[in-house]
Amino acid sequence: MTARLLDGKAIAARRRAALAARIREAGFTPGLAVIRVGEDPASAVYVRNKARAAREAGIAATTHHLPAETPEAELLALIARLNADAAVDALLVQLPLPAGLSAERLIAAIDPAKDVDGFHPVNAGHLALGMEGIVPCTPAGVLALIAETGLDLKGARAAVIGRSRIVGRPMALLLLNRDATVTLIHSRSRDPAALCREADLVVAAAGKPGLVGAEWIREGAVVIDVGINRLPDGRLVGDVDFAACAERASWITPVPGGVGPMTIALLLENTFTLALARRR
Ligand code: NAD
Repeated sequence: MTARLLDGKAIAARRRAALAARIREAGFTPGLAVIRVGEDPASAVYVRNKARAAREAGIAATTHHLPAETPEAELLALIARLNADAAVDALLVQLPLPAGLSAERLIAAIDPAKDVDGFHPVNAGHLALGMEGIVPCTPAGVLALIAETGLDLKGARAAVIGRSRIVGRPMALLLLNRDATVTLIHSRSRDPAALCREADLVVAAAGKPGLVGAEWIREGAVVIDVGINRLPDGRLVGDVDFAACAERASWITPVPGGVGPMTIALLLENTFTLALARRR
């Protein structure tokens, strides 16, 4: 391996400790409300980790767990209550939702000033217009990792693989807003390996284990692997062939221990940002 390891776990721990200190200094307790619907096992783990990390940082976290059969109207009423609750600074609906519920309608019901995930159309629109406010936690975490490498994004060539609303799309916009030249690669792109090989920075968020091989990577590129894929044998892997790409990259993130912990750290930072804005 020639690449340096971009240790998201350590960087996230450092950021969480710094945030906890800022919250202590601020002298109030920010409030985070998390809505989980149904029994998706991965969501159960994510929500538990988010709530625990929030409490460790001095944030009051409340989880509202509802059964999969909960009618949408009931969820909309809960969101309205939390929007009106002065103790709640930040609110998120954990995705994916059970079939029959509309993530779009539920997210649109969240007060944009409490939209800690940055998924509300108002916040997504601000990002698209280059007027960034609250931005989605995973791509924000990726930006924080990139900052650790010292890569100057201005004029850099960046390839983002995946165009989902929660990762790929906002990632591409964040990089564009920082003057990178961005190629957004998706499932219909022709010759994705050749497109990707042009890039100084690769952010892989396709959800396809081993998609990105060494032939996708330019010598010296920074490689960030957002993918979290569970293999049939139970192992957790990213979208990047880590061993092969580490021979060519200058920096590379591991899975697990790369982007995942950063997502949680940035969720907590977003919570505090919203809490401060509401007290201004
Ligand atoms: P998604 O399924 O919503 O989107 C995947 C995107 O990848 C799509 O836009 C699709 O066009 C593209 N894609 C699929 N196959 C492709 C291919 N062969 N070549 C190029 N592009 C292809 O997924 P998502 O929610 O954006 O998540 C992506 C991955 O990131 C998943 O593995 C997910 O578990 C992971 N994830 C990790 C974190 C974290 O905190 N680390 C957070 C969110 C998602």
